[in-house]
Amino acid sequence: KTRCWPASTRVSLNKREVGDMGMKLILLGAPGAGKGTLASYLIEQMGVPSISTGNILREAIKNNTPLGQSAKEYMDAGKLVPDEVVIGMLKERIAKRDCKSGFILDGFPRTIPQAEALDEIAHIDCALSLEVADDVIEKRMTGRRVCLRCGATYHVEANPPRVKDVCDICGDKLVIRSDDQAEVVRHRLETYHEQTEPLKGYYEAQGKLKSIDGAQGITATEKFAVEALGL
Ligand code: AMP
Repeated sequence: KTRCWPASTRVSLNKREVGDMGMKLILLGAPGAGKGTLASYLIEQMGVPSISTGNILREAIKNNTPLGQSAKEYMDAGKLVPDEVVIGMLKERIAKRDCKSGFILDGFPRTIPQAEALDEIAHIDCALSLEVADDVIEKRMTGRRVCLRCGATYHVEANPPRVKDVCDICGDKLVIRSDDQAEVVRHRLETYHEQTEPLKGYYEAQGKLKSIDGAQGITATEKFAVEALGL
């Protein structure tokens, strides 16, 4: 009988089922691999919130809080913010009510100690890795535009806003992230390969790693993710 239901009904049922299961998903991948863009799509599909540690830190910098002041120099240099800072921040965030029925992590964990700390506080179901070659990433980053108010991400060619440099969601002005300059991007990629890529082995050993091609455009990446996650 379910086969006769309209597509919209099926989608909302799916959302509820996935939410009830409380799927806790990690998005892995180099900076610029498309984690933020995929997360904003999966929020709808899975009916759970997405948490970007990068967005929380950028917001703290914008508001000039003590957290922002201590994180800024690391971020501007393309380095990772110290583990104890981001782990504390993440713990506080996932303790909130909206994370009870699952969440998507975008940009956390980025080191093995972060993954170990996460394992102590949550049961992760899956780590989905977006595979994109470094040269593709370097090209992508120069066209990236972000909204510092709501965290939405755009690309001048691949995913432009309706009005140039204006956020579709909240109407704020879009900006180029200070750490998206070519030299900083290269440093961030090195940091990724050294410190974050080993997480693939960490989650593979737990039987939780799924990898998809993230270089075929936004729609293809969404399709691969839906298939890999069985949504
Ligand atoms: P993102 O927006 O995820 O690319 O993060 C931007 C920057 O924020 C990174 O280059 C790091 O400096 C910092 N950052 C975000 N998440 C983490 C994390 N989990 N661990 C350490 N630093 C982080």
